[in-house]
Amino acid sequence: MAARAPRPDPYGALGAGPSAGAAELRRRYRRLVRTYHPDRQSADAPAEAVEECVRKFIEIDQAWKILGHEETKKEYDLLRLDDHCFSLSCRCGGKYRVSKDEAEEVTLISCDTCSLIVELLPRS
Ligand SMILES: [Zn+2]
Repeated sequence: MAARAPRPDPYGALGAGPSAGAAELRRRYRRLVRTYHPDRQSADAPAEAVEECVRKFIEIDQAWKILGHEETKKEYDLLRLDDHCFSLSCRCGGKYRVSKDEAEEVTLISCDTCSLIVELLPRS
């Protein structure tokens, strides 16, 4: 079993959308890290503000650990996709998969590994 996607979502932590490219993610990460780095905070800042900053910094750092590497990003994207899809196991061991958007329009879904097809029943 693969681990579930971490919450909160790392794209949100970097202030980017799920379609953001590697270059954009890197740019956003660098900017945020500069803003929230604990060393950057003034010594007389209230404890609450410092705490919030540290929390944010850790969130950004963890987001970058996922999205900053092609492999972990791909893995996360797959898990995220699962959250937005209906999927049904096929008897061949494969899966019927349809995104929630597609489910509004499509009625026939084919298995991703064999040639079987299932029909979506319209919601009433
Ligand atoms: Zn199948």
